[in-house]
Amino acid sequence: MKKKYVVSYNRETCTGALKCMGIHPELWKKDSDNKAVLRNGAQSSHDPKLFTRVIDENELKSYKESALICPVYAIDVLDFDTAKSVLNINPTKEKDKDNVPVIRAHYDSRKEWQMDPKGFFTVKIFPEEQMIRARYYGEDHALKFVIEGSNSEEIYNTIMREKLVSTFQHAAYVGNELMKAEIAMKKNLPYVQDDPLP
Ligand code: SF4
Repeated sequence: MKKKYVVSYNRETCTGALKCMGIHPELWKKDSDNKAVLRNGAQSSHDPKLFTRVIDENELKSYKESALICPVYAIDVLDFDTAKSVLNINPTKEKDKDNVPVIRAHYDSRKEWQMDPKGFFTVKIFPEEQMIRARYYGEDHALKFVIEGSNSEEIYNTIMREKLVSTFQHAAYVGNELMKAEIAMKKNLPYVQDDPLP
C-alpha cells in the first residue's frame, strides 16, 4: 500500500506571493483576494484557516516543492501516520527573529570589486522600444552576445542560464544594474550604468 501524507495549507498565513502556483498550477490556484487555493483541499472543521488534502507518495515531490518555495511557510506536508512534518526545515519563529546576529553592511569598491574572469556587461535602455539591452563581452573584451528583454528578471535569468557570469559578486552587480535600468525605463528617468538613479 502506498504511503500517505497530509498537505496542510494555512490560508491566514498566505501573503499571496503565488510562488506555489507559479511552479505547480495543477495543485494551486488564485483566489479572488490573491491568496492561494489548495485544489481539491478540504477546510478543517476545527480550524477554518487550515485546508488539508491527503496525498500519496506519487504526489509528495510536487507538494514538497510548493511548500519549500513558500516564503512564509503557509504550506506543510505531514506524515499521515505520525502527523510530523516531512519538510526537514527549521523555520525561525516570528518572535525569535530579533535575536539573530545583525551584520552591518559595508562596501569599498576600490578594494573589494573583482573582475569576473568570464567577462563583463554593459547595460542600456531603449525607452521608445521599452527594451533593455545587456551587451556581454568576453575576457578578451570582444562583444559576444546582446541580451535584450523588457524587464530585468528575464534578462538576468537568461544570463544565468547561459552561464555568462562566474562570481556571486558579478551576478549581484548585473542584477542590480538591470533592476535600475528597468526602473529608469518605466519611470522615464535617465539611466547611466554605475551611477545612482536620479
Ligand atoms: S507561496 Fe505561500 S504565500 Fe505564496 S501564495 Fe503560495 S501559499 Fe501563499
